[in-house]
Amino acid sequence: MTKRDYYEVLGVAKTASDDEIKKAYRDLAMKYHPDRNPGDEEAANKFKEAAEAYAVLSDPDKRQLYDRAGHAGVEGGGGIPQFGNLDDILRHFGEMFGGMGGLGGALGSFFQNAFGAREEGPPVSRLKVVIDLPEAFAGCSKRLDIQTPDLCPDCEGSGAKKGTKPTTCRKCGGQGQVLSRGFGMVRVTECAACGGRGSINTDPCARCQGHGRLNAARTIEVTIPAGIQTGEAITLRGQGVVAEPGMPRGDLLCVIEVGPHDVFKREGEHLVCQKEITFAQAALGGDIEIPGIDGAFQQSIRPGIQSGNVLRIPGKGMPIRGAGGRRGDLHVILVVKTPRNLNKRQEELYRELAELDRQSS
Ligand SMILES: [Zn+2]
Ligand SMILES: [Zn+2]
Repeated sequence: MTKRDYYEVLGVAKTASDDEIKKAYRDLAMKYHPDRNPGDEEAANKFKEAAEAYAVLSDPDKRQLYDRAGHAGVEGGGGIPQFGNLDDILRHFGEMFGGMGGLGGALGSFFQNAFGAREEGPPVSRLKVVIDLPEAFAGCSKRLDIQTPDLCPDCEGSGAKKGTKPTTCRKCGGQGQVLSRGFGMVRVTECAACGGRGSINTDPCARCQGHGRLNAARTIEVTIPAGIQTGEAITLRGQGVVAEPGMPRGDLLCVIEVGPHDVFKREGEHLVCQKEITFAQAALGGDIEIPGIDGAFQQSIRPGIQSGNVLRIPGKGMPIRGAGGRRGDLHVILVVKTPRNLNKRQEELYRELAELDRQSS
């Protein structure tokens, strides 16, 4: 396998400044980071390639050697770091950017520390999706009209008028952040000169007034599985917002809220409801009608059941996700209804009952 030229790998000119190299590497590392491309071997190789190129070109001595003698100049003798696997590279990041590898070596914290929080991966946006209990029971598909900030199509997010380019901010050299040191710590703060953009816009795009982004309406479709509970989320990959030009669209997290229901209260996989029964039903037992979430059904009760007794009916609750169609229970709290406004005949019968009660006690 022939090795690609390091400048070509990073997509920069041979005359590129340190900052340009750093930025190019950061963009590539963002794009090919294994967290963002799980199981993608090509991305992993690109990621390694970029790390190696950066390791050489970011070091003035090694860069000089490489410029003079090419790959041969830096190979062997520890010129280039030997990356066995991705973990090595992730660990190496920290070393390359000021000994911050101890923070887990994850790219997230690496970027946070080396470049400031706003550079961390594509952002995950959240959206609350309210559904009702029957929808949570059966599962459903929702089409939602959303409005999210999107890159301006005219300037593709640069904020500069078409055909012009924002000029690189001189104070931060295009990083958007400046480093300050104190108490043995390195702090990253937003560059005040450019407001963190890294560039100064002398000729702003008319469509977005130089903001680089506009609110855009989109319709998304989210498929919600049966049995979902409040607080669970459906991740729509690549359906969120674009943080920066050239960066992939982030994920959109649809956080589900299941609204309250008139009849049923949900307790995890179980449903709870109340059912009124008459004195006669409580005393004599027999079949009563129960309001199931997927339709009413008959259930027999034993004679002598008491108000407050709970019927536990298996398999009539909510579907349990990933349990092959198994469902929780339905708990029916029986409430014996005391009759009001008795008619003459009913009153006669209750008086007879009362007489019998007196005799037997
Ligand atoms: Zn624009
Ligand atoms: Zn600046």
